[in-house]
Amino acid sequence: MIPVNTPLLDGNEEKYLIECIRTGWISSEGPFIKKFEDDFSAYVHRNHGIAVSNGSAALDIAVQALNLNQGDEVIMPSFTIISPAQSVVKAGLRPVLIDSDPVTWNMDVAAIESKITKKTKAIIVVHIYGLPVDMDPVLELCRKFKLFLIEDAAEMHGQTYKGKACGSFGTISIFSFYPNKHITTGEGGMIVCDDDKLAAQCRKLRNLAFEPDGRRFVHHELGWNYRMTNMQAALGLAQLEKIDEHILKKRHIGNRYQTGLASLKNFQLPMAGTRYAENIYWVYALVAESEELCLETVRKLSESKIGTRPFFWCMHEQPVFKKMGLFLDEKYPVAEKLARNGFYLPSGLGLTDAQIDTVIETMYRINS
Ligand SMILES: *Cc1c(COP(=O)(O)O)cnc(C)c1O
Repeated sequence: MIPVNTPLLDGNEEKYLIECIRTGWISSEGPFIKKFEDDFSAYVHRNHGIAVSNGSAALDIAVQALNLNQGDEVIMPSFTIISPAQSVVKAGLRPVLIDSDPVTWNMDVAAIESKITKKTKAIIVVHIYGLPVDMDPVLELCRKFKLFLIEDAAEMHGQTYKGKACGSFGTISIFSFYPNKHITTGEGGMIVCDDDKLAAQCRKLRNLAFEPDGRRFVHHELGWNYRMTNMQAALGLAQLEKIDEHILKKRHIGNRYQTGLASLKNFQLPMAGTRYAENIYWVYALVAESEELCLETVRKLSESKIGTRPFFWCMHEQPVFKKMGLFLDEKYPVAEKLARNGFYLPSGLGLTDAQIDTVIETMYRINS
């Protein structure tokens, strides 16, 4: 079996974890947390890092920390994981969706301005699969209309836009350290930002909204227990020591697929790069020319013991949101096509060249 993801844990992970056990620092108190926050936020050139239990939790906090009013609108792509949309809806805000760019699969930034209303307060950008969103037009809109920017960089550790780190653009930006991301803590996430007050608010929301200076167990607002443990941070630190290697490996995997699959017919391959970034190939993704071909190929790969994942499913087609009366009759044709026709191949950091070659050969065999 070639699994869709295998993590790589071949550095100081074991050593640091044993240290947690031997010293007894296993909860969210403990020296690795602050070090991981400091080192990771420095890596993406932000003043503050707030480590949390996962990337979705980071989004909950990021949205809540901006202190928007019920019914305010937040613009975001339809083609994304549910996390950012769910954070917005649960905060009592209204998600307003944007279709995708058919080539980069990111949100179509040219479609944003016409969706801005008096109620719009923020834009969430989600960098998808390996290429960053075209940030300059988004930053310009945020300036012009005084909007907050939330940057979901969950898949983008080490990626840059015009040479500047992904995760350095948002009023608040977030990362995930799930085991299929470029560095992992098992489960985990991080919020990064520059503003001191915003960072303090995120820290507070992470920790049940305990008042940092007030009497303990007296609360003035509601938060979550979204704390990261010292054991997760131990993994994270060991992974961060190897992040450059991980990124090289990801690009190597992507390039090997890209070259190997160059003459494959009936599938759109990812862009190797754009004007503003080289693909970091968080996953190696393909879009079949029809939904039938996608389903058929995924089935045949599975019969050949090769794991795949389908693409995200559009927000405007989520039963849970339809039930809430959201996005009724809205259509985003590019996003709908990506969701139906797209899937990704084994792309984890533990993947070997021999495995990649087997996947490539299998793709030609089942599509001949
Ligand atoms: C992985 C991911 C998340 C969620 O992160 P978790 O740690 O799994 O909660 C959010 N957004 C995007 C774009 C992701 O890829």
